[in-house]
Amino acid sequence: MHHVTDFILFKEVMEILPTPVLIKDTQHRYIFINKAFEALFQVNRADILGKQDKEVFSDRQVAQCNGGDLRVLATGEIDEAYESIFDSNAEQREVITRKSRLTLANGEVYLVGTIYDITDVTVMNQQLMINQEKLKNQSKQLEVMANTDPLTGCNNRRALDNQLPELFEGKAFRGGLLAIDIDKFKLINDNYGHHIGDMSLQKVVAVIADCLSSEHLFIRMGGEEFLVACAGIEFQQLISLAEKIRRSIEKNEHQFAGHTIKITVSIGVTHTDRITSWNLDKLINAADKALYKAKSLGRNRVY
Ligand code: GH3
Ligand code: MG
Ligand code: MG
Repeated sequence: MHHVTDFILFKEVMEILPTPVLIKDTQHRYIFINKAFEALFQVNRADILGKQDKEVFSDRQVAQCNGGDLRVLATGEIDEAYESIFDSNAEQREVITRKSRLTLANGEVYLVGTIYDITDVTVMNQQLMINQEKLKNQSKQLEVMANTDPLTGCNNRRALDNQLPELFEGKAFRGGLLAIDIDKFKLINDNYGHHIGDMSLQKVVAVIADCLSSEHLFIRMGGEEFLVACAGIEFQQLISLAEKIRRSIEKNEHQFAGHTIKITVSIGVTHTDRITSWNLDKLINAADKALYKAKSLGRNRVY
C-alpha cells in the first residue's frame, strides 16, 4: 500500500465527484469541502475551511443545517433531510442532505455530509403535476361540453344515459318525467326567421330552468323538445310543476327584435310509484304518448 498515493487518489476522486461533499469536525468547523460544494454555493474553500456555517452562510441557510449536525454528532444516527437551500445567487434549490458520523480508529470524530441537488427533478415533477391538473380540468371541461347543448346551455341528450339512471336508481321509489314540446314552433321560424327561432328556444329554456331546482334534470332532447326528470316526487307535485312551467311560458312576453311572440308549450306527464327498478325507456315512451295526447287535445296544456 502506498499511503501517500492512496491519499492523493482519494482526494482527487472527491474533487471529480459531481456530488457536493463536506467534512466537519466536532466543533462544526469545515475541514474539507470538494469542488462540487464550492460550485453549488460559489465559495472558495480558503474562505470556508476552519469556519462554522454561521461565519460563512446567511442565517436562513444556517438555520436549516445546524439541527441535523448536532443530532448526527451526538447520536451517530444518519440524518437525511429534504431541504430548500439558497445557492450563492440566492436561487432556491431543492436538495437532499445526508449526514453521517465518522469515527476513526484513533477516536477522532467527524461529520461527513453529501448533498444531492434534485432541483431539476423537482421542477420536472411540479411541471408534470401542473400538466396533470391542466389535463384533468380540460377533460372535465370537455365532459361538460359534450353533455351541454351549445345553443341553450341545457343538458343535451347524452344526459339521458349519463345522468338519468343516476338520478333515479337506488334513491327514489317514485318519480316521473315531463316531456315538453313547443307548440307550432315551425311557425315561429317561418314567420320571423331561424335566428329569432333560436332566441325563442333560449328564452323558453331560461323560463323552464327558472321553474326547476337542482334536483331536477333538464334535457334538450332535440329541436324544440325537452325532458324534465324528477326523482322522489308525488304525482300531484309533478302535475303542479308541469302546470307552473306551462303557465310561466304562456304568460311571458317574448320580445325579439321588435316582435312580441306568443309561445306556448304542451307537456306530457308520466309518473311511477313504489317501484324497485326503473325502466327509463318505458317511462320516456309514456311521457311522449302523453305529450302527443296534449297536442291532440289542442296544445298549450298538460296531459
Ligand atoms: P307542434 O305543435 O306539433 O309541436 O308543431 P311544431 O311546429 O312545433 O312541430 P314540428 O315538429 O313540425 O316543427 C318543429 C320545428 O322546430 C321544425 C324546426 O325547424 C324547428 N327547430 C328544431 N330545432 C331548431 C333550432 O335549433 N333552432 C330553430 N330556430 N328551429 C328549430
Ligand atoms: Mg313542437
Ligand atoms: Mg316537436
